[in-house]
Amino acid sequence: MRLTILGSGTNVHPTRAAAGYLVQTDQTFLLDFGPRTLMNLLKTGTDRHRIRHILFSHFHADHFSDFITFFFDQVFYSRFVGKRPDLTLIGPRGTRRLFGVILKTFPGFNAAAFRVSIREVSDRSFWLGQTRITPHTVVHSPRLHCVGYRIEHGGKVLVYSGDTQYCESLVRLCRRADVAALDCSFPANRPGPGHMHAGDCGRVAREAGVRRLILSHFYPVAERYNVKKQAGQQFRGRIIRGRDLMKVTV
Ligand SMILES: [Zn+2]
Ligand SMILES: [Zn+2]
Repeated sequence: MRLTILGSGTNVHPTRAAAGYLVQTDQTFLLDFGPRTLMNLLKTGTDRHRIRHILFSHFHADHFSDFITFFFDQVFYSRFVGKRPDLTLIGPRGTRRLFGVILKTFPGFNAAAFRVSIREVSDRSFWLGQTRITPHTVVHSPRLHCVGYRIEHGGKVLVYSGDTQYCESLVRLCRRADVAALDCSFPANRPGPGHMHAGDCGRVAREAGVRRLILSHFYPVAERYNVKKQAGQQFRGRIIRGRDLMKVTV
């Protein structure tokens, strides 16, 4: 299994794209699709016309807004250039409503020459081919359902936290993961609401027995401190400070 970080930053970050990840197993799919991640997807050389599944953690704009640009391109492509397979959008409560409105309202979006399915998930596993996916509700924002994803393929486990504060459900989701990419919005000495700081990420990795911890989803303030060292005060395993276009073999 391979993970490519398409975006390791937040909404408006001067040097990083917002949240987005490319996962390659027997399937090729995206986890979140935040601003500036589409450009990074192109840089990876991945054929975007073959992407059949996009999994969203929640609907803060830093996690999905490039979907709009992507879909506009796919409508054009499917009508005038070539064939593409059906597309399935997967996400927490609110997915159907949000994409229902987007697909009905944005000019031309109802003219795609491929089928779009929308699927809401909560805490039940499902399969994409030979890849097992377990979404798990995490604690982020009181008005938004947010899920993290546990992805299992070929005996390996990858976890993506979505946006979350420290919570028991995240520790359960990360249990003995080979790689966990966690929301490290803030440095430990400058914490903020609804997200983890570097120390929280280390704590989750330690409590869950994670092998490799990837810190990601940085607010600009996190650039000013040594978040890797801060996480290392809680966790003795390998820690990676995520960056855009970084590839990780799980
Ligand atoms: Zn969020
Ligand atoms: Zn976010």
